[in-house]
Amino acid sequence: MLFSQLKIHEETKRILKKEVLSNCIPHAQLFEETSSDSALPLALAFSTFVFCKNKSSNDSCGKCSSCRKMMTLNHPDVHFFFPSKNLGARKSGSKGAFPEFQAEILKNPHIDEKSWYRLCGIKTQGEIRVSDARVINKIANLKSYEGGVKIFIVWCADKMNIEASNKLLKNIEEPNSNTLFVFISRFPDKIIPTVKSRLQATKITLSGNRSNDELEYDFEDFFIRWVRLCFLSSSKRNINELLDWCDNISKYENYVRLDFLEKSVNIFRSCILNNLNLKEIELSQIESKDFNFEKFSKLISHKNISIISKIISAAHFAISNYANAKIIFFDLSLTIGKLLNKK
Ligand SMILES: [Zn+2]
Repeated sequence: MLFSQLKIHEETKRILKKEVLSNCIPHAQLFEETSSDSALPLALAFSTFVFCKNKSSNDSCGKCSSCRKMMTLNHPDVHFFFPSKNLGARKSGSKGAFPEFQAEILKNPHIDEKSWYRLCGIKTQGEIRVSDARVINKIANLKSYEGGVKIFIVWCADKMNIEASNKLLKNIEEPNSNTLFVFISRFPDKIIPTVKSRLQATKITLSGNRSNDELEYDFEDFFIRWVRLCFLSSSKRNINELLDWCDNISKYENYVRLDFLEKSVNIFRSCILNNLNLKEIELSQIESKDFNFEKFSKLISHKNISIISKIISAAHFAISNYANAKIIFFDLSLTIGKLLNKK
């Protein structure tokens, strides 16, 4: 994640960059989320900037080996801790669930706590436990893999229970050199005071500060217009309109584009279920009066659904790796247009 990929308060980014460039990084920071958006992307951009071997004063290079490792969340000196299922007294839940967390964050770094619990089947809420704190302490006392700093990103830090907080206290108070903590929390008052008082807090007001940039996103409107333009894309007359649509969606942040693709593939799959009359299954439908779901379903059949799912999934992968969204959506739209016309 690069700073330039985030449409957040320029002032926060400026402060974080200054910390790194002047080598005055607080060893334990708290990113307080004060909006409905997540500060995790900011923690990722910050960590990428810390590790980048070829940074400018403005951003990470995005190309060096460290940046590449950060893009896939495979940097050996970044450690993620987050609420998870209890894996017993000895096993860290965060380490156990890291593959799922990594895959999810690569798809959607703006993920919220509830969606995360749904994904990993946690019924009420997860915790960051003493088994996690033990691993943090152990890693903090080891040398880093690459000789630089180690960064611990603690997501939903307010879910760290008292036992875990007490276990971490010493490391936060008297950290080993080259160890940085980034705590992220939407409910910072729930972090135990002895820990919280040792963190340097930054309020992250994401949505409130992008009023000029913020774009309305209504999935149904986007989808209805998209499939119409895909269907009509064989005519040159409509290509410009389709290009405008692709241009428009590429102005949104990556998580919006990914959300669009995820919801779209569900609609296409629901069409098949609808055609099979499997009404008892809850279908993802478009409720708008401007859209006839029954009629649209007839365009989707067993002949085109698997290829449609496959190309949407390929587009999702490319977009999650920050490929050029306009080109990806244009290619995808033309292929879907052909498939809808063939059925
Ligand atoms: Zn770099």
